Amino acid sequence: MRLNILTAVGIALLCQVPAFAWSNKEHMQFARIAAERLIADAKTPPAMKEWLRKGLGKPMDIAAEKQWFMNERIGLFVRTTDPLPYWATMPDMMVMGDNPSKKVEPWGAHERLMHFVDVEFFMADSARRIYKHDLSNKPTVADFPDNPKDYRWERAGFLPFRVRECYQKLVESIKAGKMTDAPGQYPRDEHAIKWAGYLAHYAADNTQPQHATEDYKSSRYFTDGRKSPNVHAEMEYRMCDDDQDDYADLRAEFWPLFEKALAEGKDPVETKDLFRATIEVSLISYDALPMIGRAAMAAAKQGGTPEKPEGPAGEFDTRVFFRSKGTFQGREMTVMEMKAIQTAWAVKRIERLWLAAWDEAHARKPD
Ligand SMILES: [Zn+2]
Repeated sequence: MRLNILTAVGIALLCQVPAFAWSNKEHMQFARIAAERLIADAKTPPAMKEWLRKGLGKPMDIAAEKQWFMNERIGLFVRTTDPLPYWATMPDMMVMGDNPSKKVEPWGAHERLMHFVDVEFFMADSARRIYKHDLSNKPTVADFPDNPKDYRWERAGFLPFRVRECYQKLVESIKAGKMTDAPGQYPRDEHAIKWAGYLAHYAADNTQPQHATEDYKSSRYFTDGRKSPNVHAEMEYRMCDDDQDDYADLRAEFWPLFEKALAEGKDPVETKDLFRATIEVSLISYDALPMIGRAAMAAAKQGGTPEKPEGPAGEFDTRVFFRSKGTFQGREMTVMEMKAIQTAWAVKRIERLWLAAWDEAHARKPD
Protein backbone atom coordinates (compact mmCIF):
# COMPACT_ATOMS: atom_id res chain seq x y z
CA MET A 1 0.00 0.00 0.00
CA ARG A 2 2.76 2.36 1.00
CA LEU A 3 4.75 1.40 -2.05
CA ASN A 4 1.69 2.02 -4.12
CA ILE A 5 1.22 5.52 -2.76
CA LEU A 6 4.84 6.33 -3.42
CA THR A 7 4.60 4.94 -6.93
CA ALA A 8 1.47 6.93 -7.63
CA VAL A 9 2.99 10.09 -6.23
CA GLY A 10 6.16 9.43 -8.22
CA ILE A 11 4.15 9.14 -11.40
CA ALA A 12 2.19 12.25 -10.50
CA LEU A 13 5.39 14.21 -9.94
CA LEU A 14 6.96 12.90 -13.13
CA CYS A 15 3.98 14.17 -15.07
CA GLN A 16 4.50 17.48 -13.27
CA VAL A 17 0.92 17.61 -12.13
CA PRO A 18 -1.96 15.20 -12.01
CA ALA A 19 -4.98 16.13 -14.08
CA PHE A 20 -7.56 15.71 -11.34
CA ALA A 21 -9.57 18.81 -10.91
CA TRP A 22 -9.45 22.30 -9.58
CA SER A 23 -6.33 22.54 -7.38
CA ASN A 24 -6.28 21.41 -3.75
CA LYS A 25 -6.02 25.07 -2.88
CA GLU A 26 -9.22 25.89 -4.75
CA HIS A 27 -11.14 22.89 -3.41
CA MET A 28 -10.27 23.97 0.14
CA GLN A 29 -11.30 27.52 -0.53
CA PHE A 30 -14.58 26.72 -2.32
CA ALA A 31 -15.76 24.55 0.58
CA ARG A 32 -14.73 27.17 3.10
CA ILE A 33 -16.37 30.09 1.28
CA ALA A 34 -19.57 28.06 0.83
CA ALA A 35 -19.66 27.45 4.59
CA GLU A 36 -18.87 31.07 5.38
CA ARG A 37 -21.62 32.32 3.11
CA LEU A 38 -24.17 29.95 4.66
CA ILE A 39 -23.13 31.03 8.15
CA ALA A 40 -23.60 34.68 7.14
CA ASP A 41 -27.07 34.00 5.72
CA ALA A 42 -29.97 34.69 8.10
CA LYS A 43 -32.04 31.94 6.45
CA THR A 44 -29.60 29.14 7.31
CA PRO A 45 -30.83 27.04 10.27
CA PRO A 46 -28.84 27.88 13.44
CA ALA A 47 -27.92 24.22 14.07
CA MET A 48 -26.51 23.98 10.56
CA LYS A 49 -24.44 27.09 11.16
CA GLU A 50 -23.07 25.55 14.33
CA TRP A 51 -22.12 22.37 12.47
CA LEU A 52 -20.45 24.35 9.66
CA ARG A 53 -18.50 26.43 12.19
CA LYS A 54 -17.05 23.23 13.65
CA GLY A 55 -16.17 22.06 10.15
CA LEU A 56 -14.42 25.30 9.29
CA GLY A 57 -11.89 25.33 12.07
CA LYS A 58 -10.46 28.83 11.88
CA PRO A 59 -13.13 31.33 10.79
CA MET A 60 -12.23 33.68 7.92
CA ASP A 61 -14.00 36.53 6.15
CA ILE A 62 -13.85 37.34 2.44
CA ALA A 63 -10.94 39.78 2.91
CA ALA A 64 -8.95 37.03 4.64
CA GLU A 65 -9.93 34.66 1.85
CA LYS A 66 -8.49 37.08 -0.68
CA GLN A 67 -5.19 37.26 1.21
CA TRP A 68 -5.14 33.47 1.45
CA PHE A 69 -5.73 33.18 -2.29
CA MET A 70 -3.01 35.73 -3.06
CA ASN A 71 -0.33 34.26 -0.80
CA GLU A 72 -0.98 30.71 0.33
CA ARG A 73 0.87 27.77 -1.18
CA ILE A 74 -0.74 24.32 -0.84
CA GLY A 75 0.66 22.02 -3.52
CA LEU A 76 -0.04 18.34 -3.89
CA PHE A 77 -0.03 17.44 -0.19
CA VAL A 78 -2.48 19.25 2.03
CA ARG A 79 -1.38 20.50 5.44
CA THR A 80 -4.38 21.51 7.53
CA THR A 81 -6.31 20.51 10.62
CA ASP A 82 -9.47 22.31 9.46
CA PRO A 83 -11.96 19.47 8.85
CA LEU A 84 -14.09 20.69 5.93
CA PRO A 85 -11.26 21.99 3.73
CA TYR A 86 -9.34 18.81 4.45
CA TRP A 87 -12.16 16.48 3.43
CA ALA A 88 -12.86 18.58 0.33
CA THR A 89 -9.45 17.57 -1.03
CA MET A 90 -9.65 13.90 -0.06
CA PRO A 91 -11.18 12.59 -3.34
CA ASP A 92 -8.06 13.72 -5.25
CA MET A 93 -5.85 12.18 -2.55
CA MET A 94 -7.62 8.87 -3.18
CA VAL A 95 -6.97 9.17 -6.93
CA MET A 96 -3.26 9.27 -6.09
CA GLY A 97 -3.23 6.87 -3.19
CA ASP A 98 -5.68 4.12 -4.09
CA ASN A 99 -4.27 0.95 -5.56
CA PRO A 100 -4.92 0.97 -9.35
CA SER A 101 -7.03 -2.18 -8.98
CA LYS A 102 -9.16 -0.77 -6.15
CA LYS A 103 -12.77 -0.13 -7.10
CA VAL A 104 -15.23 2.34 -5.64
CA GLU A 105 -18.38 0.34 -4.98
CA PRO A 106 -21.14 0.09 -6.04
CA TRP A 107 -19.78 1.67 -9.24
CA GLY A 108 -17.09 -0.94 -9.88
CA ALA A 109 -14.62 1.69 -11.11
CA HIS A 110 -11.47 3.37 -9.82
CA GLU A 111 -11.73 6.61 -7.85
CA ARG A 112 -10.23 8.44 -10.86
CA LEU A 113 -13.48 7.89 -12.78
CA MET A 114 -15.61 9.54 -10.09
CA HIS A 115 -14.47 13.09 -10.96
CA PHE A 116 -15.77 13.67 -14.45
CA VAL A 117 -18.32 12.80 -17.12
CA ASP A 118 -17.12 12.87 -20.72
CA VAL A 119 -20.36 13.71 -22.41
CA GLU A 120 -19.40 12.71 -25.98
CA PHE A 121 -19.67 9.02 -25.04
CA PHE A 122 -23.43 9.43 -25.03
CA MET A 123 -23.72 10.40 -28.68
CA ALA A 124 -25.89 7.71 -30.30
CA ASP A 125 -23.54 7.52 -33.30
CA SER A 126 -20.35 5.87 -32.00
CA ALA A 127 -18.28 7.63 -34.69
CA ARG A 128 -19.16 10.93 -33.08
CA ARG A 129 -17.95 10.14 -29.56
CA ILE A 130 -15.10 12.63 -29.80
CA TYR A 131 -14.79 16.32 -29.03
CA LYS A 132 -15.28 18.75 -31.92
CA HIS A 133 -14.57 22.47 -31.83
CA ASP A 134 -17.98 23.34 -33.31
CA LEU A 135 -19.62 21.41 -30.41
CA SER A 136 -21.55 19.31 -32.92
CA ASN A 137 -20.80 16.18 -30.85
CA LYS A 138 -22.53 17.47 -27.75
CA PRO A 139 -25.44 15.25 -26.65
CA THR A 140 -28.60 16.38 -24.83
CA VAL A 141 -29.69 15.59 -21.27
CA ALA A 142 -32.06 12.93 -22.59
CA ASP A 143 -29.14 10.93 -24.04
CA PHE A 144 -27.75 9.98 -20.59
CA PRO A 145 -29.18 6.75 -19.10
CA ASP A 146 -29.68 6.83 -15.33
CA ASN A 147 -28.32 3.30 -15.20
CA PRO A 148 -24.76 2.76 -13.96
CA LYS A 149 -24.63 -0.65 -15.67
CA ASP A 150 -24.71 0.95 -19.12
CA TYR A 151 -21.23 0.14 -20.50
CA ARG A 152 -20.53 3.73 -21.58
CA TRP A 153 -20.17 5.00 -18.01
CA GLU A 154 -17.00 2.94 -17.57
CA ARG A 155 -15.28 5.27 -20.03
CA ALA A 156 -17.30 8.44 -19.58
CA GLY A 157 -16.88 8.62 -15.79
CA PHE A 158 -19.35 8.32 -12.90
CA LEU A 159 -19.61 11.90 -11.69
CA PRO A 160 -23.45 12.13 -11.84
CA PHE A 161 -23.79 8.96 -9.74
CA ARG A 162 -21.05 9.93 -7.31
CA VAL A 163 -22.56 13.37 -6.63
CA ARG A 164 -25.92 11.76 -5.85
CA GLU A 165 -24.28 9.11 -3.67
CA CYS A 166 -22.32 11.66 -1.61
CA TYR A 167 -25.47 13.73 -1.14
CA GLN A 168 -27.36 10.67 0.12
CA LYS A 169 -24.50 9.73 2.48
CA LEU A 170 -24.55 13.27 3.82
CA VAL A 171 -28.30 13.05 4.48
CA GLU A 172 -27.86 9.67 6.24
CA SER A 173 -25.00 10.97 8.40
CA ILE A 174 -27.00 14.02 9.50
CA LYS A 175 -30.04 11.83 10.25
CA ALA A 176 -27.88 9.51 12.33
CA GLY A 177 -26.46 12.48 14.25
CA LYS A 178 -22.89 11.65 13.16
CA MET A 179 -21.87 15.22 12.56
CA THR A 180 -18.07 15.22 12.64
CA ASP A 181 -14.90 13.15 13.18
CA ALA A 182 -14.68 10.97 16.27
CA PRO A 183 -11.08 11.38 17.46
CA GLY A 184 -8.92 8.34 16.76
CA GLN A 185 -11.44 6.77 14.39
CA TYR A 186 -10.05 7.96 11.09
CA PRO A 187 -10.66 6.53 8.52
CA ARG A 188 -13.23 4.14 9.96
CA ASP A 189 -15.96 6.55 10.91
CA GLU A 190 -18.62 7.99 8.66
CA HIS A 191 -19.77 11.51 9.40
CA ALA A 192 -21.45 14.53 7.88
CA ILE A 193 -18.30 16.67 7.55
CA LYS A 194 -16.60 13.95 5.52
CA TRP A 195 -19.52 13.63 3.12
CA ALA A 196 -20.02 17.39 2.93
CA GLY A 197 -16.35 17.68 1.96
CA TYR A 198 -16.61 14.93 -0.65
CA LEU A 199 -19.79 16.44 -2.05
CA ALA A 200 -18.10 19.85 -2.25
CA HIS A 201 -15.23 18.30 -4.17
CA TYR A 202 -17.27 16.51 -6.81
CA ALA A 203 -19.77 19.37 -7.19
CA ALA A 204 -16.84 21.70 -7.88
CA ASP A 205 -15.20 19.33 -10.40
CA ASN A 206 -18.54 19.43 -12.21
CA THR A 207 -18.03 23.07 -13.28
CA GLN A 208 -14.55 22.53 -14.77
CA PRO A 209 -15.35 22.46 -18.53
CA GLN A 210 -12.57 19.95 -19.23
CA HIS A 211 -14.21 17.50 -16.82
CA ALA A 212 -17.02 17.17 -19.37
CA THR A 213 -14.98 16.03 -22.37
CA GLU A 214 -12.83 13.17 -23.58
CA ASP A 215 -10.42 15.89 -24.84
CA TYR A 216 -9.64 16.83 -21.25
CA LYS A 217 -6.31 18.45 -22.06
CA SER A 218 -7.67 20.32 -25.12
CA SER A 219 -5.01 18.46 -27.10
CA ARG A 220 -7.08 18.40 -30.29
CA TYR A 221 -6.11 22.05 -30.68
CA PHE A 222 -2.48 21.03 -31.24
CA THR A 223 -0.65 19.37 -34.10
CA ASP A 224 0.84 16.68 -31.91
CA GLY A 225 -1.71 15.70 -29.28
CA ARG A 226 0.76 13.67 -27.24
CA LYS A 227 3.25 16.51 -26.92
CA SER A 228 0.65 19.22 -26.47
CA PRO A 229 0.83 21.46 -23.40
CA ASN A 230 -1.13 20.35 -20.33
CA VAL A 231 -3.96 22.81 -20.80
CA HIS A 232 -5.92 21.00 -18.08
CA ALA A 233 -3.29 21.93 -15.50
CA GLU A 234 -3.18 25.49 -16.83
CA MET A 235 -6.93 25.84 -16.45
CA GLU A 236 -6.90 24.48 -12.92
CA TYR A 237 -3.92 25.21 -10.81
CA ARG A 238 -1.25 27.16 -12.64
CA MET A 239 -2.45 30.64 -11.79
CA CYS A 240 -3.51 29.79 -8.23
CA ASP A 241 -0.89 27.47 -6.86
CA ASP A 242 2.14 26.91 -9.05
CA ASP A 243 5.55 25.60 -7.91
CA GLN A 244 7.55 28.13 -9.88
CA ASP A 245 5.58 31.35 -10.08
CA ASP A 246 2.97 33.03 -7.86
CA TYR A 247 1.38 34.90 -10.78
CA ALA A 248 0.55 37.74 -8.40
CA ASP A 249 -0.66 39.89 -11.31
CA LEU A 250 -3.09 37.24 -12.56
CA ARG A 251 -4.35 36.50 -9.04
CA ALA A 252 -5.01 40.19 -8.45
CA GLU A 253 -6.97 40.34 -11.71
CA PHE A 254 -8.89 37.19 -10.93
CA TRP A 255 -10.14 37.86 -7.40
CA PRO A 256 -12.50 40.83 -8.13
CA LEU A 257 -14.00 38.84 -11.03
CA PHE A 258 -14.58 35.93 -8.67
CA GLU A 259 -16.21 38.11 -6.00
CA LYS A 260 -18.39 39.74 -8.66
CA ALA A 261 -19.49 36.32 -9.94
CA LEU A 262 -20.23 35.25 -6.35
CA ALA A 263 -22.39 38.33 -5.84
CA GLU A 264 -24.17 38.35 -9.20
CA GLY A 265 -24.02 34.85 -10.66
CA LYS A 266 -27.03 32.52 -10.57
CA ASP A 267 -27.22 28.75 -10.52
CA PRO A 268 -29.39 28.13 -13.61
CA VAL A 269 -30.10 24.50 -12.68
CA GLU A 270 -33.75 24.01 -11.75
CA THR A 271 -34.10 20.28 -11.29
CA LYS A 272 -33.67 18.71 -7.85
CA ASP A 273 -32.74 15.37 -9.43
CA LEU A 274 -28.99 15.32 -8.77
CA PHE A 275 -28.19 12.95 -11.61
CA ARG A 276 -29.84 15.28 -14.09
CA ALA A 277 -28.49 18.39 -12.37
CA THR A 278 -24.90 17.16 -12.66
CA ILE A 279 -25.33 16.48 -16.37
CA GLU A 280 -26.88 19.91 -16.90
CA VAL A 281 -23.89 21.55 -15.19
CA SER A 282 -21.50 19.56 -17.40
CA LEU A 283 -23.37 20.47 -20.58
CA ILE A 284 -23.45 24.18 -19.74
CA SER A 285 -19.75 24.13 -18.80
CA TYR A 286 -18.97 22.28 -22.04
CA ASP A 287 -19.72 25.44 -24.02
CA ALA A 288 -16.52 27.02 -22.63
CA LEU A 289 -14.31 24.43 -24.34
CA PRO A 290 -13.90 26.24 -27.69
CA MET A 291 -12.66 29.42 -25.99
CA ILE A 292 -10.26 27.37 -23.86
CA GLY A 293 -8.93 25.66 -26.99
CA ARG A 294 -8.45 28.89 -28.92
CA ALA A 295 -6.79 30.57 -25.93
CA ALA A 296 -4.44 27.59 -25.53
CA MET A 297 -3.45 27.87 -29.21
CA ALA A 298 -2.70 31.56 -28.74
CA ALA A 299 -0.76 30.91 -25.52
CA ALA A 300 1.44 28.30 -27.22
CA LYS A 301 1.66 30.09 -30.60
CA GLN A 302 0.14 27.07 -32.28
CA GLY A 303 -0.43 27.82 -35.98
CA GLY A 304 -3.36 26.82 -38.13
CA THR A 305 -7.01 26.83 -37.13
CA PRO A 306 -8.90 25.04 -34.32
CA GLU A 307 -10.12 22.53 -36.89
CA LYS A 308 -6.68 22.11 -38.46
CA PRO A 309 -3.68 23.08 -36.31
CA GLU A 310 -0.43 23.35 -38.27
CA GLY A 311 3.25 23.49 -37.42
CA PRO A 312 4.94 23.15 -34.04
CA ALA A 313 3.66 24.67 -30.79
CA GLY A 314 5.90 26.91 -28.69
CA GLU A 315 6.25 27.40 -24.96
CA PHE A 316 2.96 27.97 -23.11
CA ASP A 317 2.38 31.52 -21.84
CA THR A 318 -0.08 31.34 -18.93
CA ARG A 319 -0.72 35.08 -18.99
CA VAL A 320 -1.69 35.07 -22.66
CA PHE A 321 -3.96 32.10 -21.95
CA PHE A 322 -5.95 33.73 -19.14
CA ARG A 323 -6.18 37.10 -20.85
CA SER A 324 -7.39 35.66 -24.18
CA LYS A 325 -10.95 36.47 -25.12
CA GLY A 326 -13.66 34.21 -26.44
CA THR A 327 -17.41 33.79 -26.35
CA PHE A 328 -19.19 32.09 -23.46
CA GLN A 329 -22.81 32.35 -22.37
CA GLY A 330 -23.53 34.64 -25.29
CA ARG A 331 -20.97 37.32 -24.60
CA GLU A 332 -17.30 38.06 -25.00
CA MET A 333 -15.09 37.48 -21.98
CA THR A 334 -11.58 36.41 -21.06
CA VAL A 335 -10.68 32.88 -20.02
CA MET A 336 -10.02 34.32 -16.58
CA GLU A 337 -13.54 35.71 -16.32
CA MET A 338 -14.95 32.37 -17.43
CA LYS A 339 -12.90 30.66 -14.71
CA ALA A 340 -14.28 33.14 -12.16
CA ILE A 341 -17.85 32.42 -13.27
CA GLN A 342 -17.36 28.65 -13.17
CA THR A 343 -15.65 28.59 -9.78
CA ALA A 344 -18.17 30.97 -8.18
CA TRP A 345 -20.88 28.71 -9.57
CA ALA A 346 -19.13 25.78 -7.87
CA VAL A 347 -19.40 27.59 -4.52
CA LYS A 348 -23.12 28.18 -5.08
CA ARG A 349 -23.75 24.56 -6.06
CA ILE A 350 -22.00 23.43 -2.87
CA GLU A 351 -24.13 25.73 -0.70
CA ARG A 352 -27.31 24.56 -2.39
CA LEU A 353 -26.51 20.85 -2.07
CA TRP A 354 -25.49 21.09 1.59
CA LEU A 355 -28.63 23.05 2.43
CA ALA A 356 -30.86 20.60 0.53
CA ALA A 357 -29.24 17.69 2.41
CA TRP A 358 -29.77 19.43 5.73
CA ASP A 359 -33.42 20.13 4.92
CA GLU A 360 -34.02 16.58 3.74
CA ALA A 361 -32.42 15.09 6.85
CA HIS A 362 -34.58 17.27 9.09
CA ALA A 363 -37.67 16.87 6.88
CA ARG A 364 -37.76 20.64 6.78
CA LYS A 365 -39.47 22.41 3.91
CA PRO A 366 -37.03 24.76 2.15
CA ASP A 367 -37.99 28.47 2.27
ZN1 LIG B 1 -11.33 15.87 -8.43
